[in-house]
Amino acid sequence: MRVRFAPSPTGFLHIGNARTAIINYLVAQKNGAEFVLRIEDTDLERSTKESEKSIFFDLTWLGLSWTEGPDKPKDCGPYRQSERFDIYAKYTERLLSEGKAYPCYCTQEELDAQRAECEKAGNAFVYPGTCRGLTPEQRKQKEADGRKPAIRLHVPDGIDIDLIDAIKGPVHFDSQNIGGDFIIVRSDGVPIFNYIVIIDDALMKITHVIRGEDHLPNTPKQLMVARALELPVPKYAHLPLVLGDDRKKLSKRHGITSVENYRSAGYLPEALVNYIAMMGWSSESGEEIMSAEKISSQIDLESLGKSPAVFDFGKLRWMNANYIRSYDLEKIIDLFIPYLKDAGYDVDAVGREKLTKVISLVRGNCELLADIVPNVKILLEDFPEPDEEADLLLKSEEGKRTAAAAFELMGTEINAENFTSDLINKIKEKTGLKGKNLFHPCRALLTSSLKGPDLAEAMKVIGYDICAQRVKKIHDRYC
Ligand code: GLU
Repeated sequence: MRVRFAPSPTGFLHIGNARTAIINYLVAQKNGAEFVLRIEDTDLERSTKESEKSIFFDLTWLGLSWTEGPDKPKDCGPYRQSERFDIYAKYTERLLSEGKAYPCYCTQEELDAQRAECEKAGNAFVYPGTCRGLTPEQRKQKEADGRKPAIRLHVPDGIDIDLIDAIKGPVHFDSQNIGGDFIIVRSDGVPIFNYIVIIDDALMKITHVIRGEDHLPNTPKQLMVARALELPVPKYAHLPLVLGDDRKKLSKRHGITSVENYRSAGYLPEALVNYIAMMGWSSESGEEIMSAEKISSQIDLESLGKSPAVFDFGKLRWMNANYIRSYDLEKIIDLFIPYLKDAGYDVDAVGREKLTKVISLVRGNCELLADIVPNVKILLEDFPEPDEEADLLLKSEEGKRTAAAAFELMGTEINAENFTSDLINKIKEKTGLKGKNLFHPCRALLTSSLKGPDLAEAMKVIGYDICAQRVKKIHDRYC
């Protein structure tokens, strides 16, 4: 088995394309197959090297390693379509000499006018074959007039185009319904996507084409090329579209859509791969948190869902939180550090030991890596401003009594040795408060917030001196 991912480097890797890459990778892993990366950069105006680089980077970040590609050439290269024009030219020569393709001199204006006519009559445009029957003299004349021809493939009527798609099942097209003879090489010499994709799939010995459903309408044209050139045809699997929650194709309107955006928002590649792989597939055991390795051992093309997958941002965040919680501690600390630095924390001054304690305490509250920033505030800042809830509570009767009691205790009955074990109990004795009427004001007093990790653990990390300073400040401000 040989599969391929064939992105066009015209922008960042979109989540829908990442899904195609992920499924190809997982299916390749399952079957010990070769995974070819082919860069489809024939749109010379829109393709950029930066985009190609970012696609390589994103795929690598996602952990999707390919076995052949522009950077890992084997015997099916080159792996960029822009470097294969001479290969396509030979096939075009052949089609022309066999009379299966012909030069077309129609101008864009002529074609547009014909298209407009068809539309007015409520019909889909079908190229009427104007240039198919031109004599060599007529062609010469057109060229003498300065017209540069495009090349069209002759599509005979009455041919059944059938394929069994591994996901969609049997799919049928009639050759007369694909728009007539279509252009395979533009008048500027650039070959058209539908023409070269199937040539490359054949030359690269691709056995299974797994790609988005938006490519299904292209397939009959590609199969007509294969028929004309007698090329082998791969098996197809067209993945259903990825939709937003309004059931329209996932786009920027629904939220972030490029892998690059997910990375900077603080998603982990393992979570993204896990979630995306399971958008149209589920494990028999119902397990949801699964490594790529585990998924690849179970997935196969026939088990992929047929209906469109709705992208559930909440579910992805939930999954990401799971990965953050169980990730290797040292590695997750390294991943959090840039977010902390960006937020202005002097991470080196905090020191690795304290940072490890802080992150162990709060990583369970993070859905995204970026969530670390609000969560460390109460642990790393000397005096975090009380948030709205804490402020209200500190102004209340219980709040004031708690602050007053703590202020008296710190430095007298309570010291650095006993403060984590005894402070709350002593406040309880002094104020007579209990339950949440005791714990909430204590938390507000010591952390300026009502949310956060276990209070005793937090106090250990914050340390006696800072706690004492906080008690004094709150006391001075509220009592
Ligand atoms: N280059 C095409 C794209 O980026 C994919 C072509 C294919 O998979 O056949 O959508």
